[in-house]
Amino acid sequence: MHLSKNCPDRSFAILEGRDAIGGTWDLFRYPGIRSDSDMHTLGFAFKPWTHEKSIADAPAILDYLHETASEYGIEKLIRYNHRVTRIEWDSATARWTVTVRKDDTETLQMQCRFLYMCTGYYSYTDPYQPEFPGRDTFKGPVFHPQFWPEGLDYKGKSTVVIGSGATAVTIIPAIRAILDSPDLKLDGFIGPGHVSTVIGLRPYGFIARDHGKPVVVSGFEPLDVLQGAQMILRQLAEGRSEVENQYMRVVREQGNPLALEAIAEQALRRGTGARGLRAILEEVLLNTMYELPGRSDVGSVMIDAETVRLASADASL
Ligand SMILES: Cc1cc2nc3c(=O)[nH]c(=O)nc-3n(C[C@H](O)[C@H](O)[C@H](O)COP(=O)(O)OP(=O)(O)OC[C@H]3O[C@@H](n4cnc5c(N)ncnc54)[C@H](O)[C@@H]3O)c2cc1C
Repeated sequence: MHLSKNCPDRSFAILEGRDAIGGTWDLFRYPGIRSDSDMHTLGFAFKPWTHEKSIADAPAILDYLHETASEYGIEKLIRYNHRVTRIEWDSATARWTVTVRKDDTETLQMQCRFLYMCTGYYSYTDPYQPEFPGRDTFKGPVFHPQFWPEGLDYKGKSTVVIGSGATAVTIIPAIRAILDSPDLKLDGFIGPGHVSTVIGLRPYGFIARDHGKPVVVSGFEPLDVLQGAQMILRQLAEGRSEVENQYMRVVREQGNPLALEAIAEQALRRGTGARGLRAILEEVLLNTMYELPGRSDVGSVMIDAETVRLASADASL
């Protein structure tokens, strides 16, 4: 869009290795997949996100990408099934030579003066999978969410989510839905280590308190996960349901007070006009206690429905 508008005398090619537009938002198909930042800032500046929900699910983001690409005439310019396999720079001609595998049958070479790589930040074919000794002897399915099996029936199955980061955060609401379902039987949860460095242990309280299931926040090295599983088993054997911390070398019970302070301050600041705040407040912060170190005038803060209503109204969200 910018190239067509600002450099109309230049030719360009858009190469896409897969047969579809959308990248991340087309690849991942696990339940609950959504953005974890608000779409008003993640979306394109030249095509504002206008949907009601600012934290959007993958199908809505994919629709938005299709709509934008077709509106600006980009879709027809994309050369699908063109996988870049090699790039070489030649200073004498000041050109890149790009080797491309087309339809997995033919190899092409293209030259250009400027190369813009938008290939994302993770491997589409070989995502990080830690080695779990004995994995091959486990009788149930084990898979990375990047390769969620179509039509997987996980109802009634004891399930463990191993991981950290955005995917784990988005899976948690799905876990809540699973826990609320009368048909399902889960024995316990391994909580995501990295997310917990910020949020601490308290957000998992509902699993132990309301659902009577053990939760052990664990690191992601094989021995961490093994110990996390052992701690869950011990709780089950002793008839306990608590939130325990296996990843004590990194995770503190209260999380990271500075990061939480920044989040809570943001939530307290009314009338900022920050877009998407309402969704963030409702979906992420609601009903959680936050400490504000160094703010004796405020103490701890509960982001409740009224705070959301006031902040949203003030910010006209
Ligand atoms: C579950 C999940 C949630 C996320 N949520 C957010 C969020 O809320 N906010 C945020 O900022 N980020 C989020 N991200 C990160 C997200 O991936 C990026 O923000 C965004 O999708 C990246 O877009 P992109 O076009 O740079 O890369 P991608 O979406 O990864 O697209 C890369 C494209 O390049 C193609 N490609 C790769 N290699 C080649 C090659 N050799 N030849 C040809 N084509 C190739 C791929 O097929 C793909 O279509 C999330 C990621 C995941 C997995």
